[in-house]
Amino acid sequence: MIGHLCVIGVGLIGGSFARALRDAGQVETVTGCGRNEEHLQRAVELGVIDRYDCQIEKAVAEADLIFISVPLGAMRAVFEAMRGHLKAGAIVTDAGSVKASVVRDLEQVFASVPDFFVPGHPIAGTENSGVDASFSTLYQNRKVILTPLETTNTDALATVSRLWQATGAHVTQMTVVHHDAVLAATSHLPHVLAFALVESLTRLPESDDVFQYAAGGFRDFTRIASSDPVMWRDICLANKQAIVAMIDQYALDLGTLKSAIEDEDSEQLQALFLKAKQTRDAFIKQV
Ligand code: NAP
Repeated sequence: MIGHLCVIGVGLIGGSFARALRDAGQVETVTGCGRNEEHLQRAVELGVIDRYDCQIEKAVAEADLIFISVPLGAMRAVFEAMRGHLKAGAIVTDAGSVKASVVRDLEQVFASVPDFFVPGHPIAGTENSGVDASFSTLYQNRKVILTPLETTNTDALATVSRLWQATGAHVTQMTVVHHDAVLAATSHLPHVLAFALVESLTRLPESDDVFQYAAGGFRDFTRIASSDPVMWRDICLANKQAIVAMIDQYALDLGTLKSAIEDEDSEQLQALFLKAKQTRDAFIKQV
């Protein structure tokens, strides 16, 4: 059990982490920290946190575990503000969607990644943001990827792993580089495509009709284009290389599909759609 948890960034991810640990009886006191006092007050009203402090150095001072769930672009400033203010033995972990940029920021602020820092990423979320969108079951039966370094303290890793398990999540480990490559393919590319499709359609002369008559397929494909623009700007900048490589690969494959349509190559089209359908059907069965 954690005596004192500090959540920096009490939004969807941080709020849900605090709620889940409270429900599991894994935490005594939760302090929230963020920029906007109204949002933190709301988190207190909702019972997600017990109290808050907008000053990071004060918010972290008594905490046994610090969970950082701010957008990637804000991570470095958070590390700078907490440096020198942590309690002895405190463990720090994060939820950032890209891991190499978090490691880079840590190296710049602390000279090397502190052994008490456990980089992590829950593969769970919704297109909604803020503490009102948080809920205690967000992580149930979802995967959480931890990307420890060789220098990561094994007790800190075990504690973070155990806490995630208490939220109902399945914890796995992989390297930072592998994590960022896999997530570029499975999460970052689909989000970029959803944003790009919606934006592209708004520029069509007949866009009013396009949106008026859009049905389930459009809704399904573009749900994630309702995600937070700041968060996704930061993810694209933080994982630039891997995302650009995925976009290049996808553009090539789209070109092949375009040619098959132009050439009315019904065999190729059907084979491609069948293979994709079988792959997706198998994926849905397994989750
Ligand atoms: P969110 O709901 O918008 O919450 C972000 C929180 O960070 C807010 O409470 C906000 O506090 C705070 N914040 C924003 N900018 C800040 C800054 N410059 N300095 C200090 N605090 C700041 O976002 P989220 O969806 O929880 O995402 C949080 C993190 O989790 C991101 O790193 C994201 O990559 C990662 N993640 C997201 C998902 C997902 O599906 N959403 C999934 C996995 C991981 P104020 O309200 O006070 O501004």
